[in-house]
Amino acid sequence: METRTNTERHRQRQQKIKERVDSRVAAATERKGIVLVFTGNGKGKSTAAFGTVTRAIGHGKTVGVAQFIKGQWDNGEYNTLHQHNVEFHIMGTGFTWETQNREEDIQAAHAVWQESKRMLADARYDLVVLDELTYMLAYHYLDIQEVIASIVNRPSHQSVVVTGRGCHSQLLDIADTVSEIRPVKHAFDSGIQAQSGIDW
Ligand code: ATP
Ligand code: MG
Repeated sequence: METRTNTERHRQRQQKIKERVDSRVAAATERKGIVLVFTGNGKGKSTAAFGTVTRAIGHGKTVGVAQFIKGQWDNGEYNTLHQHNVEFHIMGTGFTWETQNREEDIQAAHAVWQESKRMLADARYDLVVLDELTYMLAYHYLDIQEVIASIVNRPSHQSVVVTGRGCHSQLLDIADTVSEIRPVKHAFDSGIQAQSGIDW
């Protein structure tokens, strides 16, 4: 008897949830490309971006990727995704605190940004990923107004993913979806090395 009451209560609760979800799904009628930002200090921003790329190419979409900070050329996402015709533009200079050469970094950032701008203006791309873009804005390597204008004026069906910590507020303002990844723990803090297949 007790079990039957619980089962019935569960059913009623699920039914209510379903009605709420159904009505929200019915209300979301707009179809257009969106801007997603994965930010915060926790691990998972770039992996979320490349998860989205994997999803997109699984539906036959055309994807372009710009990576603004990358010390490691042998990165797993490139190795896999370029075999699936995902176009990559990788800033080859490594991490800024390793190169210590601001002028060189700015030049490298601009070169990758030119490719990004071209992809953001081209309707053939369904998805453009700007991985680690936030640092280029925080260091003033790129002009925020130019970046915002290129994103806002992109083809209407095109989606854009931006990753990186400390996202500029103007970028957050124009974004449709913003996820802030919060670090609860990170293996590195207990002395465990970064490893291929997990960290790059
Ligand atoms: P991932 O590429 O693993 O999704 P991310 O994009 O969220 O990480 P980045 O700041 O771009 O974070 O980090 C790149 C590298 O730094 C990765 O190897 C990642 O494991 C590591 N990392 C990310 N967050 C932390 C953290 N809170 N503490 C220590 N290392 C981190
Ligand atoms: Mg990252």
